[in-house]
Amino acid sequence: MRIQLQEAINKLKDGEVVAIPTETVYGLAADASNEDALRQIYAIKARPSDNPLIVHIAEMNQVEQFASGFSPLAKKLAQTFWPGPFTLVLPAKNTVSNIVRGNQPTVALRIPNHPLTLQLLKESGLALAAPSANKYTQLSPTSADHVLTGLGDALPVLDGGACEVGIESTIVAVQGENWQLLRLGMVTEASIEAVAGSAAKKLSQPIKAPGQHVLHYSPRTPMRLFTSREALIACANAHIKSNAPAAALVLGSGAVPNCSYFELNKNVADVAQQLYDTLHKMDSLGAKELLIEAPPNESEWLAILDRLTRAAHG
Ligand code: AMP
Ligand code: MG
Repeated sequence: MRIQLQEAINKLKDGEVVAIPTETVYGLAADASNEDALRQIYAIKARPSDNPLIVHIAEMNQVEQFASGFSPLAKKLAQTFWPGPFTLVLPAKNTVSNIVRGNQPTVALRIPNHPLTLQLLKESGLALAAPSANKYTQLSPTSADHVLTGLGDALPVLDGGACEVGIESTIVAVQGENWQLLRLGMVTEASIEAVAGSAAKKLSQPIKAPGQHVLHYSPRTPMRLFTSREALIACANAHIKSNAPAAALVLGSGAVPNCSYFELNKNVADVAQQLYDTLHKMDSLGAKELLIEAPPNESEWLAILDRLTRAAHG
């Protein structure tokens, strides 16, 4: 059910869970200091309890409520990339709920770049723990409709339109002047390197981001990636011969005969913005298989390639 800003604030203050828009994907939000509310997030998503949540804040000065250190490197990255699709994993204060941290010694923080959610964060005064508003391992939602279809009409959703970035945030862990990339996203490794300068790209105690399972971000329909258009078309034809329809996604123009197909403009930002929405549409066609043209294996495409590879696994 769609709700307005003031109702969302009231519900969150009352310990309820509300889906909220961000520029990356929609989040399933709860007051980061309310453990009963946090438990509901895990229950609704059917998410394992060792998979920590990102805490969304409105201002840089809230970092120190959660992190035991905000090193010059971490601060420089935050100043460059916030508000935006960039998450910092920092050593946690022990006052931060273990439910948020998934029992890690660290906490993940981000200032999102969405006007409605920034207003929500500021007016409520809350910090909001919010993972993507989808069932565990399924496709992330980039519209209010995706959330309601995936989690049910009873869930309150603040509708902020279609997400502008469209894939999950880049995650970087920082310890002092050392950093490590934990998840690829639209803030690229090269742009982080440009800000981090000579800082070491290696933590003294390397960490693993929990929850980065190979099978992730998946449609229900089986999905296969193709590095060649010809092979994709051949596969679509084979499906026709066997009388089992496929659906295809190609990057750039070009028809796929005998098949429902979608074309995305071959531009990284456009593909990221429309990727999940297109996969949600393809998933609802009742196709036997989704045939996806892979982007080139080049640095600017790596975050999209990462999501597609995980979605296609299994
Ligand atoms: P989601 O918000 O659903 O995209 O998932 C958040 C992801 O952030 C988790 O799956 C982890 O991979 C990562 N993450 C969150 N908190 C931490 C943390 N304290 N340490 C390492 N990774 C984290
Ligand atoms: Mg997720």
